[in-house]
Amino acid sequence: MAEDRPTPRSDADPNAMSLPAAVARILSSLEAVLEEESVGLAEAPGRIAARDLAAEIDVPPFRASAMDGYAFRHSDVAVSNGPLVVTGRSLAGHPGPDQLARGSCQRITTGARVPDQADTVVQQEDVSLHMTDRSRAEDQILIETLPPSGEHVREVGSDTPAGTRLIEAGRLIRGADAAVCAAHGISTLRVKRKIRVGMLSTGDELTEPGDTLGVGQIHDANRVLLRSILARPTVELIDLGIVADTVEALASCIRSAPDLDILISSGGVSVGDADHVKDVLGADGQVQLWKIAMKPGRPLAFGHLHSGPAWFGLPGNPVSAAITALMVLEPAIARLTGHAYQSPPRHTALLRTRISKRPGRMELQRGMLEQEFDGAWSVSSVGPQDSHRLQSLQRADCLIELPIESSGAAAGENVTVIRLADCGQGRL
Ligand code: AMP
Ligand code: MG
Repeated sequence: MAEDRPTPRSDADPNAMSLPAAVARILSSLEAVLEEESVGLAEAPGRIAARDLAAEIDVPPFRASAMDGYAFRHSDVAVSNGPLVVTGRSLAGHPGPDQLARGSCQRITTGARVPDQADTVVQQEDVSLHMTDRSRAEDQILIETLPPSGEHVREVGSDTPAGTRLIEAGRLIRGADAAVCAAHGISTLRVKRKIRVGMLSTGDELTEPGDTLGVGQIHDANRVLLRSILARPTVELIDLGIVADTVEALASCIRSAPDLDILISSGGVSVGDADHVKDVLGADGQVQLWKIAMKPGRPLAFGHLHSGPAWFGLPGNPVSAAITALMVLEPAIARLTGHAYQSPPRHTALLRTRISKRPGRMELQRGMLEQEFDGAWSVSSVGPQDSHRLQSLQRADCLIELPIESSGAAAGENVTVIRLADCGQGRL
């Protein structure tokens, strides 16, 4: 189908690097932060564990009942199946006596300690009260359905015994990790320190949202856009504001910025008269990469300032800045925070609308996914793909990935899609 179309003019730039090669080059120049700190468990989810951590106690710490019912000795009933005398109670937090005379049982609740001399718990529903001898103080029970020996007893350490590795260094801590640590009595965790990320927008045309627009001005959308993509527990964001389009303004903003691990700027990265990012990076540091064979987002200035931080000069158009952040900044942030990055999963979807594209660079076009009755995905383009069209980003829930050599795709073809929910924090 695609072959029927005339091949469009190439969009290739001999100086542009493929996305995987660019990401590999960037990652090879970045190292994880070494410093670590202690945080309380409530603050731990979303942080990166700095050390392996082993369990010091058994969980559960005692033999506990998994049911409301009666704890008994299986051999007392297995043969005769006679009634058992209820001689005590073990409630959660209020253990009963350990002794259990032959032919007796203890009333027990879920989470309560099972007496040492009992080996099985029968659930309440499988028991009938047996009160033939009304002169006796204790109740008696008859087990209607005899459970197998050992039933409904949670053995010591049956969840996580002492010595189990609960957390490994480099792990992105989840709520379940924090809960496991809590169960083991651990109240703080050693995590990698947050990375410090400075953000600025360049452009004489930019004003803050909330300000009245002057002639030729637009509101800065990129800082709030990038903030929403980058904000996470491992990142401390430092807002450096809007910077005017002069070498001096940019250089002085950067020199007076606090200590950073990464500086992220948007705009001023192409070859126009007001594009100074590359010059300032070149003067105060080293440019290590410029231009990725990707659309949106071809110009990307990457390098390191002599003062230390890595600088990502993202394109100014908001869609380009956002997609570059998802594809390039995400792996870089993972690397710096000490976490193994996994690129978002790719899915196959049936294309519903024709897509035009020039060969020469990989494209990530905004699309809308739909799931068919049989579970298969189909996708349509959001329409015009100009990179100033923020609304296209708002409507999109996926990116349609078209390889460098592709010259478009026709309705009915299968294409590769990346769900935006799978990118970064899924918050774009
Ligand atoms: P530049 O890369 O600086 O040439 O900017 C490319 C386009 O993106 C221009 O139309 C800019 O006005 C626009 N742009 C740059 N920065 C921002 C921003 N922070 N918010 C919205 N649009 C921007
Ligand atoms: Mg500009």
